[in-house]
Amino acid sequence: MKAAKEPSFRESVDLMFNRAVALMDMPPGLEEKIRVCNSTYTVRFGVRLRGQIQTFTGYRSVHSEHMEPVKGGIRYSLAVNQDEVEALSALMTYKCALVEAPFGGAKGGLCVDPRQYEEHELELITRRFAYELAKRDLISPSQNVPAPDMGTGEREMAWIADQYRRMNTTDINASACVTGKPIHAGGIQGRTEATGRGVQYALREFFRHPEDVAKAGLAGRLDGKRVIVQGLGNVGYHAAKFLSSEDGAKITAIIEHDGALTDEAGLDVDAVKQWITAHGGVTGYPDATHVEDGARVLEAECDILLPAALEGVIHLGNADRVRAPLIIEAANGPITAGGDQVLRDKGTVIIPDMYANAGGVTVSYFEWVKNLSHIRFGRMGRRQEEARHQLIVDELERLDEHLGHAWSMTPDFKQKYLRGAGELELVRSGLDDTMRTAYQSMSEMWHSRNDVSDLRTAAYLVSIGRVARSYKEKGL
Ligand code: NAD
Repeated sequence: MKAAKEPSFRESVDLMFNRAVALMDMPPGLEEKIRVCNSTYTVRFGVRLRGQIQTFTGYRSVHSEHMEPVKGGIRYSLAVNQDEVEALSALMTYKCALVEAPFGGAKGGLCVDPRQYEEHELELITRRFAYELAKRDLISPSQNVPAPDMGTGEREMAWIADQYRRMNTTDINASACVTGKPIHAGGIQGRTEATGRGVQYALREFFRHPEDVAKAGLAGRLDGKRVIVQGLGNVGYHAAKFLSSEDGAKITAIIEHDGALTDEAGLDVDAVKQWITAHGGVTGYPDATHVEDGARVLEAECDILLPAALEGVIHLGNADRVRAPLIIEAANGPITAGGDQVLRDKGTVIIPDMYANAGGVTVSYFEWVKNLSHIRFGRMGRRQEEARHQLIVDELERLDEHLGHAWSMTPDFKQKYLRGAGELELVRSGLDDTMRTAYQSMSEMWHSRNDVSDLRTAAYLVSIGRVARSYKEKGL
């Protein structure tokens, strides 16, 4: 149970913001302008389903328009409410500023449990919601660009894009009205995996900073580190899969809505995912120990805790029992302000959400640019790059022959070197660069100031500073 004094999600975000702003020299008026949410639109609409009209409530919140379009996902969940959507839209403002994606912050949500509806029903609901938002410019390539979040994915984004296009038949940039679309509907390679991939790149960068790793009481690289993952959805699955299959980390527990699976030797992430897809949860999975009270497993011993499900799961009621020395917030807001204080006091290092899960918006930015430029990344340069590499390889082989085959290239090297970068390679490269650069700006802030004791405050300082500069440049 959460302790009674726990602030709401939006209050938590504001408290963390205030903590950072107290360390800045900023005029009070500007501070308030940045903190407050500019607007929240609430819509109630009816859809005829199963012979009767059902009413749904949805929100689109715009936190800051210091840059446009504003950007932020649309969430489908029964828990969606105004407070949550506003908190998430504020996080989007700070997140975009931190990773230098040129957007203001927004977020949307619809109170619906998608598991209760057939696909064609969800399509009707989504199209109607999109219609309500688009007619008020709350979906628009130049003003407001949604993306997937909890409970939504590329299928919903394709419906939204199509709905917008039907309403704006002459808009040549229509497909840039939403990101996270399937490839055949204007999406980009690597978007589905992007947030989880970004979590992986964030951890890799963290482990490139031995002094930061030492602050968490850890040493070495990611290889062999024991990781507990909460939520094997889009973000959690990709992060767990990449960390275990590419970096040698061991996923020792997976917590889902119906309990947790544990195995000190490391779980097979794909096998667990397949089980969940087939059975709706982790219960009954044969190759691991099942723990009914999943939340308890957040407190189990590990090197890295990776909450990737929902907000507020680490709070005043359990933070003191969380043993992980390093927490990477793959979800938005998984630690309340109260929980954050408890963890900081005991020296837990927290890689904050606004940085850790920014891979999604980063690749969304690439998708938006692709849609506006109407050409896939790599199309112009790839073969030219390959031709130039071929020239070098041919020349080296000619020299080798001339020298009587004194040396030779391994076929593996040759194959890799000759291959020009396609869209997926370019997206991953852009994402990797973004995650490295943003971490370095946070880490530098963390180490250069005595009054900054954690990465979250450092992240807020970097991003609020950028938003403030942007307002000042506008003359506000
Ligand atoms: P998702 O719906 O794909 O997955 C969420 C997972 O959490 C599901 O597997 C669900 O069963 C599980 N879950 C639900 N309740 C749980 C509980 N009580 N305990 C444990 N597991 C539970 O959602 P997602 O897109 O992966 O988003 C997860 C988090 O990441 C959210 O906070 C979201 O805002 C954030 N996020 C997502 C993206 C993105 O690109 N999808 C980008 C940035 C941030």
